Amino acid sequence: MDKNMQGKIVKGISGFYYVHVAGSGIYECKAKGIFRNQKIKPLVGDNVTIAVLDEEQMLGNIEEILPRENALIRPAVANIDQALVIFAAAKPKPNFNLLDRFLIMMEYQKVPVTICFNKCDLLTGEELHAFSDVYEQCGYPVVYTSAREQRGIDVLLERLEGKVTSVAGPSGVGKSSLINCLQPERQMETGAISRKIERGRHTTRHSEIIPIKEQTYIMDTPGFSTLDIPGLEKEDLWWYYPEFEEYEPNCRFKGCSHIGEPDCGVKEAVEAGKISRLRYENYRQLYQELKEQKKY
Ligand code: GDP
Ligand code: ZN
Repeated sequence: MDKNMQGKIVKGISGFYYVHVAGSGIYECKAKGIFRNQKIKPLVGDNVTIAVLDEEQMLGNIEEILPRENALIRPAVANIDQALVIFAAAKPKPNFNLLDRFLIMMEYQKVPVTICFNKCDLLTGEELHAFSDVYEQCGYPVVYTSAREQRGIDVLLERLEGKVTSVAGPSGVGKSSLINCLQPERQMETGAISRKIERGRHTTRHSEIIPIKEQTYIMDTPGFSTLDIPGLEKEDLWWYYPEFEEYEPNCRFKGCSHIGEPDCGVKEAVEAGKISRLRYENYRQLYQELKEQKKY
């Protein structure tokens, strides 16, 4: 006898989808017929209905993908409310170019971002704010944590509450340590998931959703390094720098690229210290990269 349940895809590996059903656990599912019926491929983050095929073994089939709030191209996930990007305050030193790329990627996809600086135990408040203030001034919420000293975890949890958050960050910043702090009860459940998905573990890195509590999920997404957003034109790049907006009306030329034009409001704001030079230099570099990409 078939039984239907509703759940969320927490991981997908080579044709298998792992569906978390609140209160029951993780079902290993196939998606027979989905593409034919709905013409879309299931994504991590999708809310789905499944038909349970074997209750004992927790096997099922995905019957329907419920309507999506959004679907990102990078990472390829659905129904994200926000992104959290983690950098270390030190060791390794934050790579601001990489951070800016990430922010652009999320601005482009209209996903709100919170920045988390971890390893705050390694710097003084003054050292920390020397760079973190730049981002606060651009309008990004910044959370300060130390996974080692368990600092800032409550504030972070508050920001995650009731949401699905995609978590990213370069390696070594303490992402795994922080994720562990966020979910003390994880051990049990993860054990079960990892046994089931063992075979896929070492092939490629996939996004994985971790239920923290009811209605609160984090999505551990693989690293990022490039700015390959299909359709992003260099002329539009400045749109994704929220702090440029205020000064762009002062540009003499309509369609100013804020690179070489005279009387550029953005460049003047950089000179006047109103826009961070660091952010602006990253902008120039990314602009150049998009220009080169186009050539090939
Ligand atoms: P990931 O690669 O981002 O997942 O980073 P890990 O969680 O594996 O941590 C990388 C290293 O940083 C490990 O040696 C951790 O012990 C250390 N680490 C993580 N969080 C903190 C922190 O808040 N402060 C300090 N000082 N070290 C940390
Ligand atoms: Zn300009």
